[in-house]
Amino acid sequence: MAYSRRIFMRSRIRIAVAALAAACTLGAHGSPWSQHAHHPDRPFEYLENSSYDPKVPTPKSVIGHEVGKYFTRHADIVRYAEALAESTDRVVVERYGQSWQRRPLMTLTISDPANIARLDEIYEANRELADPRTLSADRLDEIAEHNPAIVWLSFNVHGNEASAAEAGIATAYELAASTHPDVKAWLKDVVVVIDPMLNPDGHSRYVSWFENTMGVEPNPSHDAAERREPWPGSRTNHYLFDLNRDWLWLNHAESRSRLPAYRRVLPHLHIDVHEQGWSRPFFFGPGDTPYSANIPQSTKDWLELYGDHNAEIFDKRGLVYSTKERFDYLYPGYGKVLPVYHGAVGLLTEKGGHSFAGLALEFSDHEVLTLEERAHHHFLICMSYVETTAKHREAQIRRFAKYFKEAMDKAAESPLTILVASDNDPALISKLHDLCREHGIEIGLLTGYEGRPTLRSFRDNNDAGRQPLRRAPWVISANQPMGFLVRTLFEPETYVEDKDTYDITAWNAIVAFGLEAWYTTDEFSVETMNLPKAGDALGELIGEGDVALVIDAAQHKLPSVVGLAAKHDLFLRRAGSTVRVDGKSFEKGSLIIHRVRNRHADLQAFVRDVRAIGVDVHRASTGVTEEGPVLGANANDRLPLPKIALIRNRPASLLSYGQHWWLLDVEQPIPYTAIDHDHLGNVDLNQYNVIVLPDGARPGDADAIRDWVRAGGTLVATGSAAIWAERSVLNIEAVKDPEDLEERKKLHELSFEEREQRGVEDRVPGPVLRAIVDTTHPLSAGLPDWLGVIVRGDRRLGVGESTFVVARFDSEPLLNGVMSERNQQRFAGTPMCAHDRLGRGHVVRFAHDVTIRGFQHRPMRLLLNAIVYGPGL
Ligand SMILES: [Zn+2]
Repeated sequence: MAYSRRIFMRSRIRIAVAALAAACTLGAHGSPWSQHAHHPDRPFEYLENSSYDPKVPTPKSVIGHEVGKYFTRHADIVRYAEALAESTDRVVVERYGQSWQRRPLMTLTISDPANIARLDEIYEANRELADPRTLSADRLDEIAEHNPAIVWLSFNVHGNEASAAEAGIATAYELAASTHPDVKAWLKDVVVVIDPMLNPDGHSRYVSWFENTMGVEPNPSHDAAERREPWPGSRTNHYLFDLNRDWLWLNHAESRSRLPAYRRVLPHLHIDVHEQGWSRPFFFGPGDTPYSANIPQSTKDWLELYGDHNAEIFDKRGLVYSTKERFDYLYPGYGKVLPVYHGAVGLLTEKGGHSFAGLALEFSDHEVLTLEERAHHHFLICMSYVETTAKHREAQIRRFAKYFKEAMDKAAESPLTILVASDNDPALISKLHDLCREHGIEIGLLTGYEGRPTLRSFRDNNDAGRQPLRRAPWVISANQPMGFLVRTLFEPETYVEDKDTYDITAWNAIVAFGLEAWYTTDEFSVETMNLPKAGDALGELIGEGDVALVIDAAQHKLPSVVGLAAKHDLFLRRAGSTVRVDGKSFEKGSLIIHRVRNRHADLQAFVRDVRAIGVDVHRASTGVTEEGPVLGANANDRLPLPKIALIRNRPASLLSYGQHWWLLDVEQPIPYTAIDHDHLGNVDLNQYNVIVLPDGARPGDADAIRDWVRAGGTLVATGSAAIWAERSVLNIEAVKDPEDLEERKKLHELSFEEREQRGVEDRVPGPVLRAIVDTTHPLSAGLPDWLGVIVRGDRRLGVGESTFVVARFDSEPLLNGVMSERNQQRFAGTPMCAHDRLGRGHVVRFAHDVTIRGFQHRPMRLLLNAIVYGPGL
């Protein structure tokens, strides 16, 4: 019980300090301690002398404990939200979706009852502000006069930053129940939308683990087990993705269902509530450079305005904080940045705590950091944002409207138009179409144009002539209200004002999706036509023959078809080279399914499943080909169905494992078995013909893996696992840089500052490099002759005598983003993907993780090819 006594002592110390301070006077404004953060009876009090509507339930009356005493389970947060909505006409609750694990996702909207009664009308008027093409000056004045401003508060996108959710509960109660005249006045001017839990699966993983680990009382010792989560931790969602990188790509149930709810509201301020390392001071925005060049000054000015008010609130209470550091505004997938592209002022807030802090953590000899304190600081900042927005209601609304106008003004000054060939693979076009539609970006089919722009290729910026205009292209222009997001997503080069970034520096969607497309920065006026979304249609059934089914490997979803073939237990062949049958060509790697070899299977059901994912199926009338070997030839080898072991748990990177898991489970489903590292020794490896090692994986028994490969297995390894495979399985010598070594020896000649600068230059912060694909290699099926690939870190693959390089970084590799000249030279010509034969088996290595954040669809196809074609190589 010693620990609970310490906590008790600490609250006594605080009371004593408050009493002492009350006895002194410190200038005209009184003692700062009189407004100390923690009034023992009213820990969550933003305004003095607050009173509360007794009809509105307190958190304790519903969830059974005071906010900050324990972690509140997600189901209790949902119950509390619903109880609030039932008790007062200030609150409405809406469910907007569910997490992968089927937990409800929801918002509480809190405002003056008169606003709540006309929410739809408020939102509709607000959305009018987001299109300067139809908004008149009079209408703007009218809306600015009558509409409230809108604040959206997002809590707990990271599961184990759990004080955020507690702050959400406290903020909801304050806004729903306070009868303080100031709060009531603010709610006339502001609609507050609270998303109490963006990542309920991660949060539930955390709370469940914590409750299973702690004793009766929290233990503030730094050594306590309750602050050391086991792999994979609970920051991430079910598939171990960081949802705070997914706001842009929408690969996950949570982000995908949130964005439509968000865009219906289009708030003017978005706050993303986080926690950071326990010893750091409270952080509130603005953040640090680099800012994307697509964030206008008007938005930046407002970041400052909010920051200034926060500082006042914290100063008044004598609290420590930091601001304007560390967190940049470059990568657009964050909760603080993506909302900026939807017109909001986006800010991040971080309290020191995190999963390490548990319920209580010894901070110093005199202080224990409690969950209550962490939640309280977030509560203060959230209330500060509501208050500031209320004070600047009309100006905020006008700024919001101006943002969309500025996007169009910028397009007039510096045009950008993207043309995407409409004969790209339908699945990839459909992904682009989806991405645009979800974000409110207009995309249409070209029907007419004026001007003679220079159209450049995304591959090398070379002039592509007139040909793109003849490819019936889809058009995306920056000359639209969402123009700033269009630039951010599609501009050929990221402008980076400051190379010391927090995250990746390039992400162009055209390159990542591997679309054939062009851009122009010339003035170019186009007419377009909207078409229903491409790619939703069933795949076509072509031909009427009965000899074999042939499925073209050029189709992006070919790996999913192999997954379906495994489900239906089919006998497959794969075309060893291009084959032409019934007048139609099929790329190497295409699947050939002879009816006679599959009498056991329900081929009709298989064809139905394949068409349902949008893939075309050809019914060949003959085994005779017009080009390439006959369908039954040995050259069109049997393709064994993949039996995949996907290795998880320490030391694999949780993100990399999660991405591989999601890829095989959701994105292109193929049956697999996830196996823990420490169980691998007990597994009969002969049951599997593919072992997938995510970044960081490192099986203990390299000999066993080598023997298994020699006997015919395919090992697919990424990142540091690829280096492990190179050394431990293939015995390839590590890459050596003799010149580099010499240069490194001279580093001591640099001054401290020069050396720091050099450190920044030597980082490889996620640029996109161009890799040239060997299109004759069997693993390149369905790929263009180049790929743009995100590279993080210095890792380069070695080559041995048996190595085939499937894709190699170009001699001038940098396509987009930040990379020093020196690093470009070091990467030039090295393998991005290498294939080695070993005995009867194969090892396929990827230098960098192509599954990063799940949006590099073409590079991910190469990984999937290694998995599905490996056993047939
Ligand atoms: Zn966080």
